[in-house]
Amino acid sequence: MKPDQLLYPAPAGLYCPSGDFYVDPMRPVARALITHGHSDHARAGHGAVLATRETLDIMAIRHGPDFCGTAQPVEFGETIDLSGTRVSFHPAGHVLGSAQIAIAADGTRFCVSGDYKRSPDPTCAPYEPVACDVFITEATFGLPVFHHPDPKGEIGKLLTSLKQFPERSHLIGAYSLGKAQRVIRLLRDCGYDRPVYIHGSLSKLCDYYVSRGIDLGDLRPATLEKGDRTDFAGAVVVGPPSAFGERWARRFPEPLVAFASGWMMVRQRAKQGGVELPLVISDHCDWPELTETIRDLAPAEVWVTHGREEALVRWCELAGIPARPLHLVGYEDEGD
Ligand SMILES: [Zn+2]
Repeated sequence: MKPDQLLYPAPAGLYCPSGDFYVDPMRPVARALITHGHSDHARAGHGAVLATRETLDIMAIRHGPDFCGTAQPVEFGETIDLSGTRVSFHPAGHVLGSAQIAIAADGTRFCVSGDYKRSPDPTCAPYEPVACDVFITEATFGLPVFHHPDPKGEIGKLLTSLKQFPERSHLIGAYSLGKAQRVIRLLRDCGYDRPVYIHGSLSKLCDYYVSRGIDLGDLRPATLEKGDRTDFAGAVVVGPPSAFGERWARRFPEPLVAFASGWMMVRQRAKQGGVELPLVISDHCDWPELTETIRDLAPAEVWVTHGREEALVRWCELAGIPARPLHLVGYEDEGD
């Protein structure tokens, strides 16, 4: 079977006709396999959904318990037969519950990696390589300029700032699924044991991470109504980036705005966003990780999606691996 008979880009997303399912579809479909809970991948309204237990729980937290018709949890490594097409889920190292999906039929095996990263992250299962004929990779940071530094070094910058400016509240913008919990866990791993104050929109997902055994230490609501605002002098407050443009943020004492994102490598982005302390912490592969992964897997073919497709396609071709851009629209990762 030719690879693009097993899986191909259709208007609603990547479609497998033999198993009659889509992967991370962008509009409601009868059967969806979901790689992870970020909103551009995990939409509500599908008939049947297959995903890891954590991804299903996260979808229920974000969209409500009726987010789909039927939800079927899949264990990592378990093989499920869908009309003769075999599918299995494998850790992607991106956020809690994130999976790569292997799809095999008639001697051809795909790996749809979804979003993934290879640098250590104690808040989720680590990436595992999945042998395949066709590897579908993201390319969010698919340009040679993207090299992500050690995240503990970035947290070190934050801890230094807290010492330098003990009177200022440090507001850290971090996306609510994955990044916020990783930043808090990194702070703990770097020895920060004071309370961390969180914006209300993070509480359910933080509670869920804790319920899955990820210790986030002393978390408290970042509500200003009750306490004296001086309580927040020198405090760490974590919230979604959107919250820091609101009045809510301006009520903290001498707020110092930090933002944890892979995009903080781009100085212009930090400047435009009024970010005083950019923290380059990414939940995606950087360029060396992308190319190392493709070298390790040595697939017969690479398909590149969401992000800087052309540069990675070109790199594959120079490495002697046939590659194509997928040009899927609708993926603008909320968790970079
Ligand atoms: Zn994602």
